[in-house]
Amino acid sequence: MYAFHRPWLIVILLLSLLSVKAQPPAPDLSDDARRAVDSIRQSSVLSTVAFLASDEMAGRQTPSPELTIASRFVASRFRGAGLEPLDDDATYFQSTPFEVSQPPTDDVLLRIAGGDVLSSRGVLCASSERLQVTAKLLTESEIAIAQTPQIVVIDEVIVPPQATDNPAAVLLTLRRRLRSLSEKGVQLVLIKCAPESPLIDVARKLSDSPLPLRQGLQPDCFVVLVSAMVNLEGVEVIADIGPQEVTQVPVRNVFGVLRGSDETLADQAIFVTAHLDHIGSRNVGPDKINNGADDNASGVTAVLSLADAFGSLQDRPRRSIVFGTFWGEEKGQLGSKAFVAQPLWPLKNITANINMEMVGRPETDARERIWMTGWKHSNLGQLMKAGAERVGVDVFDRKDVGEMLYTRSDNYSFVRQGVIAHSFSAGSLHADYHQPGDEWQKLDIPHMIKVIQGLFCGILHVANRDEAPEETE
Ligand SMILES: [Zn+2]
Repeated sequence: MYAFHRPWLIVILLLSLLSVKAQPPAPDLSDDARRAVDSIRQSSVLSTVAFLASDEMAGRQTPSPELTIASRFVASRFRGAGLEPLDDDATYFQSTPFEVSQPPTDDVLLRIAGGDVLSSRGVLCASSERLQVTAKLLTESEIAIAQTPQIVVIDEVIVPPQATDNPAAVLLTLRRRLRSLSEKGVQLVLIKCAPESPLIDVARKLSDSPLPLRQGLQPDCFVVLVSAMVNLEGVEVIADIGPQEVTQVPVRNVFGVLRGSDETLADQAIFVTAHLDHIGSRNVGPDKINNGADDNASGVTAVLSLADAFGSLQDRPRRSIVFGTFWGEEKGQLGSKAFVAQPLWPLKNITANINMEMVGRPETDARERIWMTGWKHSNLGQLMKAGAERVGVDVFDRKDVGEMLYTRSDNYSFVRQGVIAHSFSAGSLHADYHQPGDEWQKLDIPHMIKVIQGLFCGILHVANRDEAPEETE
């Protein structure tokens, strides 16, 4: 009723109905395109995904030597596919310095004044400056705001054994308490620990594999683990502890472009991407490596297979196609954020981002089908559907989680910049998600091949149409 007083609302309603109408069928595939589709086959798909998800890749943590090797592999494949680099130095890389921090392990001296050395069982946190302080040891209830510096001893903080897999999460649980202590002038917190405490493993893990600086959740105090057996009541402690060590490790996005054949449209690019990183390994359990075969070696394999197939075309698509992989998706889409902050292709000329996430393990009713996240936001799903239909692959709107997952992958870094960007998945939310069981042996390779062929036909359609995809909402 209300709407009838506003005729423009009816117009908008009609326009929005028009914009979701089914797209006209895509033109028939040329012989050239059909040959490229047929070139997407098991030998390369399986060998690629099995390598990226091998134990030697150690779960492709950001940052790690294995992720660096994986990015070199991607760059080599782009070169082999005949793509041009996007960067001025022709490396195919976009490098970003990534800061990691480690607490000191050896540079820790604690002494009871006039008495024994107090041995450290590990350091959980350290500030950026060396700590040299002598003070009477207080309990939390004895802290006096006016008195500074202060050293506090607290009882063991209970964390579950599996917490050692995720030191950042342990620091997060301690964060509020440590912050309130440091706000009261506490510079050093000693945590009493039993010899079998999981906190000792957490400290060991922190010293073995540094944390991203932004995950270090820097409290302004030092936290050192000490034996629960020593009587520390009322003693004076002399502390001399080195600062945290901050290092910069380069991490790399990888990009290669197949230039478009149409003089006008070649300035526009479709970005075909996937995240290369995963979550590394864990401390406990018989199998410690989170291989990330489905998440997201499968998506990267799709990107590499598509690069090979498009690179093999005699007739290049009219628009340019940029193939790319990102670091740091698992840490908050950091690689794609780094890209949009310093884009190697003008954002306004990015026609669409087609981002691949988990295309290897379908649900039983979704074999050889692809779902696109955030379906309602553009007509890209309709266009990809019209293109993929040519090889019998369906692209659909997964209504239960498609909208929620729209914001959960690298495509969303592009969306924030006003670029039409969606993730395409042909997988399921399986129990091996982010677990060591996400192995390449469990992938459905014939399904993957068919899905990649469907993606090829969808992308080809979008790359060759006169009109670019449009936003619908
Ligand atoms: Zn993923």
